[in-house]
Amino acid sequence: MVEAAREPGASEQRPVTALRGVGAALAQRLRRLGIERVQDLLFVLPVRYDDRTTLRKVGELVPGMRTLVQGEIQLTEIVYRRRRQLLTRLSDGSGFLTLRFFHFSAAQQEGLARGTRLRCFGEVRRGPQGLEMVHPEYRRVGDRSEAVEDTLTPLYPLTAGVTQGRLRMLIEQALRELDTAGVRDWLPRELIDGLALPPLRDALRYVHRPPKDARLDVLSAGRHPAQRRLAFEELLAHHTSLRLLRQAARTDPAPSLGDEAGLAARLVASLPFQVTSAQARVLAEVEADLRSAVPMVRLVQGDVGCGKTVVAAAAAARAAGSGMQAALMAPTELLAEQHWRNFRDWLQPLGLPVALLSGTQPARARRSVLDTVASGEVRVVIGTHALFQEGIEFANLALVIVDEQHRFGVQQRLRLQEKGRKLGRFPHQLIMTATPIPRTLAMTAYADLDISVIDELPPGRTPVQTVVVPQQRRDQVVARVEQACRAGRQVYWVCPLIEESEELPTRLGTLREAKWGHARMTEAENRTQAAEETAAALAAALPDVRVGLVHGRMPSAKKDEAMLAFKAGRIQLLVATTVIEVGVDVPNATLMVIENAERMGLAQLHQLRGRVGRAAQASTCVLLYRAPLSQLARERLEVVRGTNDGFEIARRDLELRGAGELLGTRQTGLAQMRVADLMRDADLLPRVQEAAQVLIERHPDIIAALSARWIAGGEQYGRVG
Ligand code: ADP
Ligand code: MG
Repeated sequence: MVEAAREPGASEQRPVTALRGVGAALAQRLRRLGIERVQDLLFVLPVRYDDRTTLRKVGELVPGMRTLVQGEIQLTEIVYRRRRQLLTRLSDGSGFLTLRFFHFSAAQQEGLARGTRLRCFGEVRRGPQGLEMVHPEYRRVGDRSEAVEDTLTPLYPLTAGVTQGRLRMLIEQALRELDTAGVRDWLPRELIDGLALPPLRDALRYVHRPPKDARLDVLSAGRHPAQRRLAFEELLAHHTSLRLLRQAARTDPAPSLGDEAGLAARLVASLPFQVTSAQARVLAEVEADLRSAVPMVRLVQGDVGCGKTVVAAAAAARAAGSGMQAALMAPTELLAEQHWRNFRDWLQPLGLPVALLSGTQPARARRSVLDTVASGEVRVVIGTHALFQEGIEFANLALVIVDEQHRFGVQQRLRLQEKGRKLGRFPHQLIMTATPIPRTLAMTAYADLDISVIDELPPGRTPVQTVVVPQQRRDQVVARVEQACRAGRQVYWVCPLIEESEELPTRLGTLREAKWGHARMTEAENRTQAAEETAAALAAALPDVRVGLVHGRMPSAKKDEAMLAFKAGRIQLLVATTVIEVGVDVPNATLMVIENAERMGLAQLHQLRGRVGRAAQASTCVLLYRAPLSQLARERLEVVRGTNDGFEIARRDLELRGAGELLGTRQTGLAQMRVADLMRDADLLPRVQEAAQVLIERHPDIIAALSARWIAGGEQYGRVG
């Protein structure tokens, strides 16, 4: 057994149950958190730290500090001030501190008797009688010289069913066994030479137990060499895994789409406009891929309104013109329907029927669509992501198009690939995103994809002018809406949220894979209510304006009706939730008002704004906010106001997001990473790419080990390779 434990491969596999105090029940809870091996514990990284290494004098305390104090109890009493509460007055000779408890037992009260010496840890606040701590941690101490912690105290991400204390204790054990239990430093020395990064074990020890004198500011900025060592490894794990995914995706043969019927060319020739040179270039890249027998896995990046749909339609036409099928997946029903209309307008004249599969179709209609798809009679199918979930049979699917994928992480890509294989043999994949990211980041985040960029808008558009306006001036905004309508233009009014909900969508509109559970439902309800109330209020204020409403919880047919009425001009002012975020196209709409703009992601604001400015007339976007704005919120809105360039916004967004956010929670959203941040650690990326090359050529075994260590479900990448 001892022998086995020394053997590196085996020790990395050591189960958590090998630790003291871990029985079957705890092991099960840990497993739910993705922690199965001792090693996994070590890679649960702190989100921040407490400093319990120094006892401070009460006289030195400042509001906002989280600190350790010690003193003698002068007085403990129950008071009734709105609520029943227990107040304890503590003194250390340098001043008084109040401890305030709202929940307490009789025994607790007794334990806090006058004369007791107490050590507390908590956040200092300004209270009615001077400084106080609310519900501090505390314990009784005897003599004055009791030890304090000699390292900073890590706070780990909150984990259901496992307490902070328990987790800390387990990690402590794992750290103690670090040398013997063997977490292997997989990186060959030469790969990180010159980067001045510590060895893995030192890095782990440091981030879990930073010494007393560690610079908390450096740590919370994620810039400590120990963190960078881990970030480097994590980036490398992601990057190499994606590259393997790329290799795997391209090993199987795909159908070569020659488009013998020439439908793609006929489509482009029949458009009412000329494609831009950027569209033409990207189309050529896509067509070259489709003609080859290697499966295409290509991402088309391009700002809102740059004309990605045409590229998708031409690709679909090429598949159909080769006697095969194409499927397009949109993120919402509404968008699926709009794509379906566009595709139908463009493809029907070429003799190509286009089918729509919708969640709200009557069963009979649906059945007949399914039949025509299975028989191959219909070659182009549009739907939502449900297309993949419903056991749909294709006669010969050759191309999968994914539109506007915001949350398209590593896991999704893996899934898409698997499902694609089940549906067709090895279909080509075309992914379109309107969320641009800087090129250097894209090369790492999308290492498995070929990337095409449409960096040009169709001609004849006037850039949208954006203004930032406080709620107090809402009346002026409403007057402006009336003016626009009177001038024959149309207006969007977007209401994202009304009330504080538990989970504010601080990062909506990014690529993050959010927890879309319960919180989202309440948000949706919230939005619906906000939209309904706003629509009613605006209709009352603007009796001459035809006001319509569209929100995500409306039946699809109703949404459709409202959107169509808006498109046809029967509705002048459309009050909407963010369902209109993507895709909807009404060139006559020249004004957009977005409420609570300060709460929305920059990418999302930019996307929304892309709904106006679709014609030659000048368009305006009003960002309404509720004062007061934090400095960060102000800067964020200023970014959107200051530029119409989605790439620039993405860059600034990532930069600003780094500021003011807690270590570990910062996510570019491009991938779920634990320490690394693509933007912050951008300077490491060239070395990550070099190192990846070396590993791919010479050490595929190391890639498998790193994936298993860093990526949830990463064992799969081992298989892929
Ligand atoms: P997105 O890239 O945001 O998906 P769309 O494909 O919806 O953009 O295109 C936006 C609008 O611009 C549509 O009405 C589309 O028909 C139109 N369009 C696309 N390409 C051109 C072009 N080259 N010239 C003029 N209009 C175009
Ligand atoms: Mg689009």
